[in-house]
Amino acid sequence: MSQVKELLVEELQDLLHAENQLVAALPKMVEAAHHPKLKEIFQKHHIQTQNQVARLNQVFELLGEEAEPKACRAMAGLVEEAQETIEEGDSKDENAADLALVAIAQKVEHYEISGYGTARALALQLNERDAARLLSSTLGEEEASDYLLTEISKPILQEALAGEFDSRKTASSERAPSAKPRTRTKAS
Ligand code: FE
Ligand code: FE
Ligand code: FE
Repeated sequence: MSQVKELLVEELQDLLHAENQLVAALPKMVEAAHHPKLKEIFQKHHIQTQNQVARLNQVFELLGEEAEPKACRAMAGLVEEAQETIEEGDSKDENAADLALVAIAQKVEHYEISGYGTARALALQLNERDAARLLSSTLGEEEASDYLLTEISKPILQEALAGEFDSRKTASSERAPSAKPRTRTKAS
């Protein structure tokens, strides 16, 4: 096997293991998300991710290679961080917790985008056009997911900031009554 093809197969094995981990992790993200739109994004991406595993299997078949996953430690680390983010979310405001979920989810998407970008480029170099087309479809989904996450973070961030402004106002109006007697005491 050419070394370039070997490289492609290794990249695909890495992606297969990465996607398998995400199929298992995404339902936890769905459960942890508060904003209904964010929940929906994770839910849809979970279905897409299962499809992406099927697509990777097709690519292996096209290349005449066995669909054998190879440990992707990077995704294992990201999934671990996602688990931490979920647990830490319990002690956060809903919006802050959601923003943290978006942040880790985008790191996952960016890892996938680079993996699929590389795999597609290698497939094109090897003139494996059908494989490249399948990899392009998945790459498009990862990019779309990244974009949707950026978009949903905007209203959540606005709500988070509005919430902080409201709690500052509440905090200062709570302080006000206690400030009055103190002034009076000073005056008398
Ligand atoms: Fe994926
Ligand atoms: Fe990896
Ligand atoms: Fe993804």
